[in-house]
Amino acid sequence: MDKNAQKKGILKAGWLNALAILFFVCVTQTSLAYESASNPFLDVPDRESTRRIINDIRQYKLDYLRNKEKLESAFQISKEQDWEHLHLEAAALYSELLFRQEKYAELTAHLSHYLHQDELLKRKDIHLLFLETKLKSLTRLDDPTPAKALSKTLETQISQHSINEKIIILRALAYYYTADDALRKTLSAALEGLELAMKNDDIASQGYFYRKIADAYGYLEEDEDKAVSYAKKAVETFEKTNDGLFTAKAYWSLGNILLETGDSQNALVYLNKALAYFKDVNMNKGLAFAQYSIANTQFLQANYDRALTLAKENIELALTAGIGDMHLASMILLSNIYIKQGFLDKAEQVNDEVYLLVDNFSRSIYKASFFSERYTLKRELNRIEEAFDAIEKKLFYTEKHFEATSESNIKALQVKFEVKEKEDTIRKLEYQKDISNLQAKEEYQQKIIWRLSATIASILVLVILLLFYRQALQRKKYHRMASTDYLTNCFNRRGILNTANTKLAQQKMTIAIVDLDYFKKINDEYGHDVGDLVLIAFAKAAKETLSKGDEFGRYGGEEWLFVLNSSDEKVVRDTFEKVAATYQKYCNDIDALEENLSMTFSVGVSLGDKSTRTLDTLIKRADSMLYEAKENGRNQVIIN
Ligand code: GH3
Ligand code: MG
Ligand code: MG
Repeated sequence: MDKNAQKKGILKAGWLNALAILFFVCVTQTSLAYESASNPFLDVPDRESTRRIINDIRQYKLDYLRNKEKLESAFQISKEQDWEHLHLEAAALYSELLFRQEKYAELTAHLSHYLHQDELLKRKDIHLLFLETKLKSLTRLDDPTPAKALSKTLETQISQHSINEKIIILRALAYYYTADDALRKTLSAALEGLELAMKNDDIASQGYFYRKIADAYGYLEEDEDKAVSYAKKAVETFEKTNDGLFTAKAYWSLGNILLETGDSQNALVYLNKALAYFKDVNMNKGLAFAQYSIANTQFLQANYDRALTLAKENIELALTAGIGDMHLASMILLSNIYIKQGFLDKAEQVNDEVYLLVDNFSRSIYKASFFSERYTLKRELNRIEEAFDAIEKKLFYTEKHFEATSESNIKALQVKFEVKEKEDTIRKLEYQKDISNLQAKEEYQQKIIWRLSATIASILVLVILLLFYRQALQRKKYHRMASTDYLTNCFNRRGILNTANTKLAQQKMTIAIVDLDYFKKINDEYGHDVGDLVLIAFAKAAKETLSKGDEFGRYGGEEWLFVLNSSDEKVVRDTFEKVAATYQKYCNDIDALEENLSMTFSVGVSLGDKSTRTLDTLIKRADSMLYEAKENGRNQVIIN
């Protein structure tokens, strides 16, 4: 490949690259625009950025725990600067942060400080955010009265509130009902909340309610499929937010529900995802829950050694973190592992320890299931009285559980009916959402197809234009080549005849034919190559001496056709005199020729008068004048 071709190749590749880049830019335009819209936050502590941090946390674009410094500084700065409303909002979010950080003592002080401020009455939604955290923290107390009282207040108030505020209240209530074992009420509140959150496009709250519904169905042990499908929706929904904690909780719920259905393989995947987040943000409560579930999975898969290590670790962890349920559940698991390993005495010892702490369980269903396990163990060990006691207590707590969740009374039946109705509404809403999602997807695809076609079309147009341009250039080049004499680089016969034809229209013009004298002799004596040099010398001399607008070309062998702009005899003679002198000069420069060899030519001229002017007649006339000049002894110009 020669260099030019290589260069052309590079140029061509350059073009294609440019087009490819253009194409890429067109196609990716939307996604780039989207990315640049989600700007990272500047750490400037002004009102604007504080506002933005608060909004982003409220809309779940930022994770509370992973952005705790930002939230803390928003809280502090708004306090120092006395940005009243902004500060209240920051304080409300800060209370949720304290709850997530498990700083309960600090949270209590914080809540009582802010809940006494009159300003709060002007901002109902902020007030409710405080109350939501308050209700969640009250469920941790041994005394159920304050939580119950607050939930009652919220229940009676709810109808006066806006949709947004209702969503907050229903979130708080769904949390409280689950903690209080009132799972039917959890279902009812969460379904109502879900409906509102869907209408309001509140993604994070939708996820929250999906999870509460899934958990409720899971605990009620009545509809596994529903539990799985709501838990999956919770995961899908939270994965769209940046709320790592709630996403992790959704993983945990789905993991546990899958465990219940016997799908321990998939359960482990989700539980490990949850564990990873809790580890990352150092959240003991989450860790204890996730680790317990993983230990339980290992146990169910008969990996007793692994399960034993995890259970022991978790007993310590839950104890230090003060999570009664997980502490006791891990102990029960430990005792079950010992049973499988054949250490019945060790199992009994652990079981007896749990027996002493049984009041620490938050739910009667947990107590009931503990006593069920205790009954089996004590039967196996032949401790009849203790077994009898266990079975009695199991019945007692089972009854208590059913009291809270049962359907045996009219009210519970009514709730069940409500739940069904609400589920129907949710299904309709989801159906509508699916349809509009599909529509949006189709529109988007259509747009992409249009954009692609437009891009491809413009590339094609560009390529075609490029090809046309190259063809035009080539045509011009061929044209020039076809009219040029290869040896002397002046016009060839075709070229000069074309030029002569176009000049015919001019008022004044002259046609002359030049024939070099005794040229054959040069060829014979000095060789063809030297003859060529003489031809080149003549062309050079003519080119140099002709005035602007005069043209000449090689008409044949050593004959030349001149087209001059003038029809003045004197001008014509002067012109050829100059050519003759210059021709002689250039021939003198040819070393091969004998020194001072006289080099001449003869000229036949036909002055163009308009009446007789066809190119053919002019040439014939000039040709016969040339013949005369030769006959006359050469080296002369004969004009007609
Ligand atoms: P006259 O003065 O009568 O014109 O004599 P002459 O020798 O020039 O005779 P003529 O015009 O018949 O000779 C033309 C010669 O030019 C014949 C041919 O060999 C030679 N010739 C034609 N084309 C070329 C060429 O491209 N290169 C060379 N070196 N010679 C050429
Ligand atoms: Mg000749
Ligand atoms: Mg000749």
